[in-house]
Amino acid sequence: MRNENKSPLIFSSFDDPALLQDIKRFVLENEDAIVRDIGRLVHIPSIAGPAEPDAPYGKEPKRALMCALEIGRELGLETVNCDNRIGYAAVGEDLGQGYLATITHVDVVPAGDGWPADAFTLRVQDGWLIGRGVMDDKGPSVLCLYALKYLKDRGVPLRYPVRALLGSNEESDMLDLAYYQEREPNPLFCFSPDADFPLIYGEKGIYHGRLISRHTPLNVLDISGGVAANAVPAGATARVLASRLESSDTVTATETEPGVWTLSASGVSGHASMPEGTVNAIGLLVDYLLSRDIPAEPERPYFELLAKLLRVTDGSLLGLESSDEFFTPLTAVGGKISTLHDGRISQTVDCRYGISLTGERITALLREAAGEAADVLTDSDSAPFLMNPESPAVHACMESYNQVTGEEASPFTIGGGTYARHFPHAVAFGPEHPERPMPDFCGPIHGVNEAASQAWFTEALQIYILTLLRLETLDY
Ligand SMILES: [Zn+2]
Repeated sequence: MRNENKSPLIFSSFDDPALLQDIKRFVLENEDAIVRDIGRLVHIPSIAGPAEPDAPYGKEPKRALMCALEIGRELGLETVNCDNRIGYAAVGEDLGQGYLATITHVDVVPAGDGWPADAFTLRVQDGWLIGRGVMDDKGPSVLCLYALKYLKDRGVPLRYPVRALLGSNEESDMLDLAYYQEREPNPLFCFSPDADFPLIYGEKGIYHGRLISRHTPLNVLDISGGVAANAVPAGATARVLASRLESSDTVTATETEPGVWTLSASGVSGHASMPEGTVNAIGLLVDYLLSRDIPAEPERPYFELLAKLLRVTDGSLLGLESSDEFFTPLTAVGGKISTLHDGRISQTVDCRYGISLTGERITALLREAAGEAADVLTDSDSAPFLMNPESPAVHACMESYNQVTGEEASPFTIGGGTYARHFPHAVAFGPEHPERPMPDFCGPIHGVNEAASQAWFTEALQIYILTLLRLETLDY
């Protein structure tokens, strides 16, 4: 029987216009099916839930994983379910030389309030797909499955089989990937469509520690602010002893009992990895306290230490300032402050650092800056992740991106963390375009009206197919 779709793919080079045309034709032929399949996944509210015997991350993430694997089977791919935690669809025979992979996830964050329609029913408006998970990361999951379908339908000879890994616990603890890696070898190279285009080849180290005051403050009865260590706080409050205080531009002072004042500061919040434009409310409060001489000896040096952390976001006043050729300069943010049961104060420190520092060095520098004023505790540290931007695999991704988009884009690094940092050789690779405008009815990932452009997806799928073809030709 003759089947035109199954004729082997013949092309002279990756720049061969016939190749690009063939990929484009495949994408257009499958456009409607892709939207339908994204809709099937969006319809499952795959938010992490209580563990059940067969569903370690909750029953909806498991349902979404099973649905994605079913889509893979419908496309003619082999599928494997790793105990309802993670799974993959695959194409190509195992020749004992390792495999290539993509990794995405089918779990989502909760919808939140403010949606004009059901967040778990896919809407299509003026070429935009709207619904929880369309961009993060159900749409990209479907794109990866269709990229594998192309390799299969065109009978592309594969040196390395390709797996489309599908996680179901990314938005929580990424336990899915740890489970997989305990049982399976890592891919030779992996790209994760769960971030921005063009390509993220490095992620800063992420250090979390605490500065705990050695003394119980005398005049500061209690202080609290912030919601998370990894966010610049929008609000902070304190109760202090003082005879007379006045409100400032940023801090309101109210006498709540004779001689006891409640102070509250408001700032501008933001993610700790991107603190530009934020104003730390705890910092405003601490500066207010110091300028009014409220902390007495011996509590004052601790507040002076806090001011050094909170007045800037580059760690420069604590001796942490650093930068290197790959990463933007270090950021240091004090996200959360609280008064402990014993009356001492605890302030968190979130540092995002490049390859010129280590977590141990950060602890040492913080101890030096803290002197006798505070104890420094390290809560967690994850070293920077860096893939050589000149490696053939990164080139394969970037050449494909620039070829399809007509751009001359360069890869970049970020301060956050994606799936990629958990692999020895991996990058995050699209399909978001923060630089491209979105209409008003569209929203960001994790937000209301989470949206993805159909045109961007069409382009992204072409990029992913072309990239996999290129990656197949490389030695690892
Ligand atoms: Zn994601």
